[in-house]
Amino acid sequence: MNKLIEIDQDNLTASFQPGLVTAEFHNIVEKVGLFYPPDPGSMRTSTLGGNIAEGAGGLRGLKYGVTKDYIIGLVAVLANGDVIRTGGKLAKDVAGYDLTQLLVGSEGTLAIITEATVKLLPLPEAKKTMQATFKSLPDAAKAVSRIIANRIIPVTLEFMDNATIKVVEDYVKIGLPTDVEAILFLQQDGSPSQVERDIEIMATICKEENASEVKIAKDDQEAEQLMFARRTALSALARLKPTTILEDATVPRSKIAELSEHIIQVAKKYDLQICTFGHAGDGNLHPTCLTDIRNHEEIEKVEKAFDEIYEKTIELGGTITGEHGVGIAKAGYLEWKIGKEGINVMRGIKKAFDPNGILNPGKLFAETRSRMVVSNHAK
Ligand SMILES: Cc1cc2nc3c(=O)[nH]c(=O)nc-3n(C[C@H](O)[C@H](O)[C@H](O)COP(=O)(O)OP(=O)(O)OC[C@H]3O[C@@H](n4cnc5c(N)ncnc54)[C@H](O)[C@@H]3O)c2cc1C
Repeated sequence: MNKLIEIDQDNLTASFQPGLVTAEFHNIVEKVGLFYPPDPGSMRTSTLGGNIAEGAGGLRGLKYGVTKDYIIGLVAVLANGDVIRTGGKLAKDVAGYDLTQLLVGSEGTLAIITEATVKLLPLPEAKKTMQATFKSLPDAAKAVSRIIANRIIPVTLEFMDNATIKVVEDYVKIGLPTDVEAILFLQQDGSPSQVERDIEIMATICKEENASEVKIAKDDQEAEQLMFARRTALSALARLKPTTILEDATVPRSKIAELSEHIIQVAKKYDLQICTFGHAGDGNLHPTCLTDIRNHEEIEKVEKAFDEIYEKTIELGGTITGEHGVGIAKAGYLEWKIGKEGINVMRGIKKAFDPNGILNPGKLFAETRSRMVVSNHAK
């Protein structure tokens, strides 16, 4: 079920089956001058159905939003075999409960999506990329806040901490400075004049916030090189130890520095290798622990460390997952975010859609308030 069904250039929509690979869909719509922004790091292998089921984000979320912001219609099969059609090629639709958005991010626990309709945008005319390095984490975080406070919404505002920089440089050897605390990766798109102006302002802000170096790509090839380090982060980390546990803590953007520093302290306290990278503009960090599932003593420390990281995340007004979903690994944490009352409402919804619990059993809801199940979370 991986077919494109239609691109409707009058309504600026597209419809497809859920097995279509995300990056293939990007290529198809961009060939006709249209644009589908959601671009999870996994887009070369992920499917649009998986993106919808997980409510996936990506590197362009800051400016363009995430998958939920583009899904306007769905066809889905319920647990009893009924087929429902929600939304459509409509700019407006308030006919009853919004079942489209209920199914987005439902992690396959409510229905099986068999067809989807998304809205599309015109393809931006120009795009520019820059990279800024910082000796201090709070300076990098301040640059992020000041860019947004200056009413600039870059398309991409990504972050890598020192631990990640060292591992990536060791892997790809592209001359990343290993003595800095943070690197920001920034991109802007739009009209050529607006892109030039925004990149210049962002470069000035980074310099004013003590960036040790600011590089602006001259062409697409240089842009690719600048973004390469960020795109390689997970592969670089994953090769070091037998088990990579990638998390998805998300806080209000202004709390990024506080959470990053907390993660560094927790890693020190438990003597763990935790490298952090992520979508700084979205307040979404991926603290990634490099460990070995066979080392039970260390895995116990990993669980305690992530408990502390998530406690802090919630205390800062954040959430247990910004884009990867709850699944099995974080089912034990869901109550921390939405409370008992929230769990009760969600269980009620699950029962209405799937009374016999046959769709993705075991996901979202934990029987006990246990810590995450690391073995299910290890890649
Ligand atoms: C290297 C890497 C980078 C990543 N980067 C990002 C990122 O930047 N942003 C982000 O949000 N995520 C990211 N992810 C996580 C993941 O790739 C995304 O959540 C993606 O959306 C999952 O799509 P998939 O096709 O792989 O889904 P799968 O893993 O196949 O499925 C995910 C879930 O959706 C359910 N499902 C799948 N299809 C349907 C359907 N048709 N109907 C109902 N349920 C369905 C499955 O049962 C399963 O529970 C990354 C993962 C990796 C490995």
